[in-house]
Amino acid sequence: MFDWDETLPSKFYNEWERWRDSLHDLQDLRIPRQYTSSSFKECENISVHVFSDASEKAIASVGYLLTACEDGNSRARVHLGIRKSSTPEQWNFVSTEHNPADQGTRPIHAKDLLESKWLHGPTFLLEGTEFSDDLVPEVSADDKEVQPEVSCLLTKAKVSSETILKRCEKFSNWHQLVTAMGTLIKLARRIGGGNLPSTPSCLESFSRAQTFILQLVQRDTFPTEIECLSSGNPCPRDSRISALNPFLDQHGLLRVGGRLKHAKIDTNEKYPIIIPSAHHISTLIVRQYHEQMKHQGRHLTEGSIRSAGFWIVGGKRLISSIIHKCVTCRKFRGKEGNQIMSDLPKDRVVPGPPFSSVGVDVFGPWECCRTSDKRWCWQQ
Ligand SMILES: [Zn+2]
Repeated sequence: MFDWDETLPSKFYNEWERWRDSLHDLQDLRIPRQYTSSSFKECENISVHVFSDASEKAIASVGYLLTACEDGNSRARVHLGIRKSSTPEQWNFVSTEHNPADQGTRPIHAKDLLESKWLHGPTFLLEGTEFSDDLVPEVSADDKEVQPEVSCLLTKAKVSSETILKRCEKFSNWHQLVTAMGTLIKLARRIGGGNLPSTPSCLESFSRAQTFILQLVQRDTFPTEIECLSSGNPCPRDSRISALNPFLDQHGLLRVGGRLKHAKIDTNEKYPIIIPSAHHISTLIVRQYHEQMKHQGRHLTEGSIRSAGFWIVGGKRLISSIIHKCVTCRKFRGKEGNQIMSDLPKDRVVPGPPFSSVGVDVFGPWECCRTSDKRWCWQQ
């Protein structure tokens, strides 16, 4: 590496000069914007051919649009927009001397570029021979690139529930969090080859993701309670949720017991899921239902959360604090500002002889929108 003002050693200087002078040759280089000289309609056969090559330092890819026209001429044009997807059957081996992408991985003099395969495409494409067998040589068993054994390494990382919950804190919207988790679960099942249906409905996927997140939250906050209940023992008395008479449902979720067994209402509403208030998930849920209720007060927000099947322990305080911080609510419920009156004019506050300052009431008072407010207009 050299600094910008350092004198180059003669070896590099000569090389640099040679390269700089070679740039003059690029003046004659013209790449027509049109893909074909005639309309696509007049072309009988249109195909895209992509070549690639790699050296230790570079990877190159070049694509050609090959069109066979009615006049019998074939034309290949360099085409840099390459389709990302293809099938293995569509790929062939091309030897180095026929591969135009080979020129992208090694230096080429500017004057040679004008006549290069890179710009004009390989001759076998234009001649219509495409990939004849003689272009595919037998691969020798001693070839260094042929590896008899392929080593494949798989890294497995155990993700703890704390890590997942930490990631959940990056979300500020409950719906988006559950949708993202649903997608992740679907992907994990597909890769892991789970026995669940591969294409569950959106509702199923959403509900499964919601259950998964709530399970993590409950296991993180109420581990003792879940352990006692799952082993058939009652909830510990000193637990802060013991008054709710909790039980575990079929998904292992803690729900409020209650006395509404015979009520003809939805199970979620009858036995709401217990959520701790000091958790980011609770904040997201409260925000979600507060917005769904169009920013109404605490009681309506609380009712909406309850109807959705959630029971937030200490929820009243959490809901009040979220509504207090809610920007939309602050705008709706904010006090209107009072304008400070300007200073009285000098004529009204400085004593003077009678009639030295007089005014004429031109219009009489104007009634203003606010009750008991009047404004006058006069001329001095
Ligand atoms: Zn609000």
